[in-house]
Amino acid sequence: MNSRAAKDTRSASEAAEVLARFRIVLINTTHPGNIGSAARAMKVMGLSQLHLVSPKTWPSSEATALASGAADLCHAAQVHEDLDSALAGCSLVLGTSARLRSLSMPQLDVRAAARTCLQEAPGQEVAILFGREAYGLTNEEMQRCHYLVHIETNPEFGSLNLAQAVQVMAYEFRMAALGGAGTQVPPTDWMPVDAQEMERFYEHLEQALLDIRFLNPSQPKRLMMRLRRLFNRARPDQNEMNILRGVLAAAQRGDYPPSKVDKS
Ligand code: SAH
Repeated sequence: MNSRAAKDTRSASEAAEVLARFRIVLINTTHPGNIGSAARAMKVMGLSQLHLVSPKTWPSSEATALASGAADLCHAAQVHEDLDSALAGCSLVLGTSARLRSLSMPQLDVRAAARTCLQEAPGQEVAILFGREAYGLTNEEMQRCHYLVHIETNPEFGSLNLAQAVQVMAYEFRMAALGGAGTQVPPTDWMPVDAQEMERFYEHLEQALLDIRFLNPSQPKRLMMRLRRLFNRARPDQNEMNILRGVLAAAQRGDYPPSKVDKS
């Protein structure tokens, strides 16, 4: 007997609605066949949004051939010159990695990643980044992510083919979307800002920290990486972002008289 109550599961059409918000972003892919296979992997699991950042060869008949019945996804794929444009409108960004890097970032296994994506506020889009066949995602690209996701593998041979990695992720997304149970409903008044807004904030933060002589210009990377981790955990909404930007602007203006908090 199915122990899960009917109200805890979603119908296929409800799941389709949820999955429509997931973007698969393939960065700088070398082999177009992998793009076609990824499109197929997506379509069988009900994902449809394929985004390509500077693919080496595109469009490609090899991609269409390997996509098989999912050639429509290839034709509809959005091609971007840079990651910024691929992430426009996304509030949550996950990066997939074959290796667990020394850079310590919040990490999720595939199932936890799928649940986290489903908890994202309605109307917000989620991006899942996949790296190059030869060397995966760069450190800069990883720093754009809220979480890194590693598909559990044989520790001696952990690198999946790109399209197969897309397949595993897409399957877990579908299962989570159908399952419904156990996912929390996000508060309705919390809409985290999108990736571009976060990037503008980090630029402002870096400049402000330079201006107030907190950031050492000869070694800016480490501190900015830690601060990115902090603010990526916080996921500020637009109101909170306005406050943070206001604080930065005030610190940059400087030249203020001493003042005390009135606790009366
Ligand atoms: N040699 C590269 C592997 C690239 S495989 C490296 O060591 O990083 C191409 C892409 O497939 C990766 O960037 C990642 O997006 C995905 N991928 C492959 N294996 C994966 C795994 N075990 N977990 C998560 N993603 C994986």
